Amino acid sequence: MTKAKKFVVVKHFQNEPKPSDLRLVEEELPALQSGEFLVQAEYLSVDPYMRVYTQRYPIGITMIGSQVAKIIESKNTEFPVGKRIVGHLGWRTHTIINPHSSEYDFLGIKPILIPDMEDLSPSLYLGVLHMPGSTAYFGLLDICKPKQGEVLVVSGAGGAIGSHVGQIAKKILGLTVIGITDSDEKCKWLVEELGFDYVIDYKKEDVEVFLKKAAPEGIDCYFDNVGGDISTIVIYQMKNYGRIAACGSISSYNVYPSLPKSKILQPPFVFNRLKMEGFLITDWYDRWHESEQKNLQWIREGKLLYRETITKGFENMFDAFVGMLQGKNIGKALVQV
Ligand code: NDP
Repeated sequence: MTKAKKFVVVKHFQNEPKPSDLRLVEEELPALQSGEFLVQAEYLSVDPYMRVYTQRYPIGITMIGSQVAKIIESKNTEFPVGKRIVGHLGWRTHTIINPHSSEYDFLGIKPILIPDMEDLSPSLYLGVLHMPGSTAYFGLLDICKPKQGEVLVVSGAGGAIGSHVGQIAKKILGLTVIGITDSDEKCKWLVEELGFDYVIDYKKEDVEVFLKKAAPEGIDCYFDNVGGDISTIVIYQMKNYGRIAACGSISSYNVYPSLPKSKILQPPFVFNRLKMEGFLITDWYDRWHESEQKNLQWIREGKLLYRETITKGFENMFDAFVGMLQGKNIGKALVQV
C-alpha cells in the first residue's frame, strides 16, 4: 500500500490565501489495476492561475496544480517505471493514473511523458518547456505580433513568463525591451544577464515618468501580466496601432471580483487605434510541441536563460504559493519534494 499526501481545499480563498484554507491529509492508495501506473511527485508548480481557478471547484477538491512526477510502479507498457510525466495531478505526492480516464485532464491538458534530458532538469517541464514557456512564445508572437525595431513593455518581468517574453523580444526579435518588476535583484538580473534595455521597479519609481524617458516616441507592444494601474499607465503611452497581449492580471487576483475603480481607457484605444486581445494558452495546446522545440533550441544556443526559485519540501507548498503571489520568486516558482 502506498501512502499519499495531498492538500485539500477546505475554504475558498478570500483576499490573500490563508494556511487554514487548505488541509494536508494522508490517504492510502489502492493496488494498481491493469493499464494504470503510479507516479511520485518530484517538482510541483505554484502558479498565479491557482488563486483564481480554485474558486470554480467545490470545497473538498485536491488543490489544483501541475507536477513533474516519476513513474514508480506500472501496469501499462507505454508508461514504464523510471520515466517521467508532466500533468495536472494537483498538490499530491503520489497519484494513480489511468491514461484512458479524463480524471487528470485540465482544460484539455493531459498527463504526458516527458523526454529524458541528461543536461537539463525535468523541472523545466513546469516552466520554459511547457505551459509558461508556451504562454510567452504564443502570447508574444501571435498576439503582440512584434516587428524588429519596435518597443515592447512587459509587466511581471521578473517572473516565469515575463522574463521569457523579454528575452525572445530582445535577443531573438531585436526589439527594445522595457521590463516592469520589483526588487533590485530582479532588476539587476533582467538588465545584466537577460539583456533587457530598461527595467523599472514599480514599487520604488514613478512608472509614468520612467516610460516617458525610456520610450519617448511611445510603446508598440505591451505584454500584460499584471493589469491594474501599471497597465493603465502603459496603455496611455502606446503608439498608434499598438498591440496589447492581455495575458494575466495578477494585481487583481487577491481582490477579485471586488475590483477597484480604474481610469477610463477608451481615449487611447480610440485615438491611437490600439488593439488588446485576451488569450488562454490552452487554445494553442495542439501547437505546444512547436514552442517546446523552439524554446529548447534557444536554451541550447544560449539565447534563452531561465531561473527557478525552488522551495524544498511538499509541506511547504502553501508558503511557496503565497510567496509567488507576493513576488518573492525570481523566474519560475517551484516546489521540490
Ligand atoms: P510569475 O512568475 O510572474 O509570478 C507572479 C509575479 O507577479 C510575482 O512574482 C510578482 O512579481 C508579480 N505580482 C504579484 N502581485 C502583483 C501586483 N499586485 N502588481 C504587479 N505585479 C504583481 O507568474 P507567471 O509568469 O506564471 O504568470 C504571469 C502572468 O501570466 C499571471 O498574470 C498569470 O495569471 C498569467 N498567465 C496567463 C496564462 C494565459 O493562458 N493567459 C497562462 C499562464 C499564466 P513582481 O511584483 O516582482 O513583479
